Amino acid sequence: MKVAIDGPAGAGKSTIAKAVASALGYIYIDTGAMYRAVGLNALRNGVDIKAQPQLAAKLTQSVELDIVPGADGQRIFLGGEDVTDIIRTQDVSMAASDIAVIKEVREKLVSIQRQLAAGKNVVMDGRDIGTHVLPDAQCKIFLTASVAERARRRYTELTAKGEACVLDEICADIEKRDKNDSERRESPLRRADDAVVLDTTELTIDEAVAEAKRIISEAALS
Ligand code: C5P
Repeated sequence: MKVAIDGPAGAGKSTIAKAVASALGYIYIDTGAMYRAVGLNALRNGVDIKAQPQLAAKLTQSVELDIVPGADGQRIFLGGEDVTDIIRTQDVSMAASDIAVIKEVREKLVSIQRQLAAGKNVVMDGRDIGTHVLPDAQCKIFLTASVAERARRRYTELTAKGEACVLDEICADIEKRDKNDSERRESPLRRADDAVVLDTTELTIDEAVAEAKRIISEAALS
């Protein structure tokens, strides 16, 4: 069984996908973390991703990424270093969104994602899982929420971690990432025709998880 969960930043994809995977005993694969890790790698190497896309692509070809699924989600290693937590900053979010428009980068990461999912029960979240990475997934969910609510959630998450941030800036960043992700040529963010839309604006985490589980059980029966 493959479950594809797509949607814009802050719609609750990783929280919901992780909870559902753990409840079902499936492997959780967070594809956004892969774009974040290669974005971080480019930043660390002083690459201006937008101005030097070819350099960013070349750097990504030789990057050493290890994705380790575990009981509490997924850990990601860059050149052997666990970068799971440090890829969550605003700078890395933008770098991920910028590097994700590069065709060669997407090809490399999509190939890793398909290998990780092959022959397993997985819940995979991202932007193009239902449309491109796993088009044959038995269950596809498109998660969404209002921009204001998504910004509020990201603000709460970052401040809880002690990162200084301003709500208006987060809101602007989210709008910029939505635009980047939806308007890019390569696998833009869009709902697959056969995906079920789940709007989490008014839902608590528990309610959203319950609804996602219901959608998955229905898909499993059909
Ligand atoms: O999901 P998350 O916010 O961690 O993803 C970071 C960025 O990686 C997104 O803004 C998007 O540009 C990119 N991404 C993507 N395709 C995916 C997952 C993430 O383009 N499947």
